[in-house]
Amino acid sequence: PQPAGVVESAAELAFEGALRPASFAEFVGQQKVRSQLDLLLRAAALQQRAPDHILLAGPPGLGKTTLALIVAEETGHPIRLTSGPALQHAGDLASVLSSLVPGEILFIDEIHRTARTAEEMLYLAMEDFRIDIMVGKGAGATSVPLELAPFTVVGATTRAGLLPTPLRDRFGFTAHLEFYADDELEKVVARAAGLLGLDVERAAIREIAKRSRGTPRIANRLLRRVRDVALVHDTPADLAAVQHALHVYDVDELGLDRLDRAVLEALIARFEGGPVGIRTLAVTVGEEAETVEAVVEPFLVRTGLIARTQRGRIATPAAYAHLGYARPGAATG
Ligand code: ADP
Repeated sequence: PQPAGVVESAAELAFEGALRPASFAEFVGQQKVRSQLDLLLRAAALQQRAPDHILLAGPPGLGKTTLALIVAEETGHPIRLTSGPALQHAGDLASVLSSLVPGEILFIDEIHRTARTAEEMLYLAMEDFRIDIMVGKGAGATSVPLELAPFTVVGATTRAGLLPTPLRDRFGFTAHLEFYADDELEKVVARAAGLLGLDVERAAIREIAKRSRGTPRIANRLLRRVRDVALVHDTPADLAAVQHALHVYDVDELGLDRLDRAVLEALIARFEGGPVGIRTLAVTVGEEAETVEAVVEPFLVRTGLIARTQRGRIATPAAYAHLGYARPGAATG
């Protein structure tokens, strides 16, 4: 899923598709989630039923879509891809649901953005494999039940907390994807380089991994940028090429991008380090609150640069140090 406001070029999407792991074996990291999913799928296969509905939660680019595709691959059933924003009317969902074949996987990206009326239909469909279709208009309208083929919803969300409880309760399994460790990202990059037939220096791979915000999608994109640099300057894909690409794309030593730094900067320079609410911060940097909350904040918290308190977000001493600000009250000299 993409945060609001992020536009994908066709080339980027094709590139991602080419690098997507196709099986659990190729999927790097997330060991716990992988073995939980594997167990769930095996149990369902032994009982010859559709697996429980699965909810995948976590920041963008950590592998939610990839896992949904792997689930389909492992079950041997087709997969239908849709998203919350595409389900704005109950009718949109009804037409998708009524055309599913038995065992089909229904992937709903950004499921927290599904419209309320479609959401209510989804509850019933997930629970009973049945929906009620309204026929006719006004006083003469009646609802006609429609039986559905058994299917499995794989929902993805960057904001699990926004899902209404009745919807959340219908998932038999919820996985929270974590940011990847550097050594895991090194594997992601090495694998991608292999698939692209790129000869990338060991040190360069390590550096890409370190600067990728714990996110495979970013690691792969950075690799692509490094390839561009090497191509254009006719140099090897080495550490210097990585540094060049990082400089051009404004990624700093901690892997923070411009928006990450803008948020930190606003927190420190405009709000004296906080506490301040996420909405106020988002408005200050001219970004949607959802993006700041789902994309920027999780990584800044993980890196220890901001902390969440009851009264809002605060900048940690590490944030002051990272941006080169003196901390109020700290000894100078
Ligand atoms: P999400 O749906 O969470 O936004 P995706 O599943 O679309 O993320 O992953 C983005 C890209 O990152 C994929 O195309 C894939 O190449 C890569 N990727 C994600 N997770 C992994 C992983 N665990 N191992 C290898 N590559 C991965």
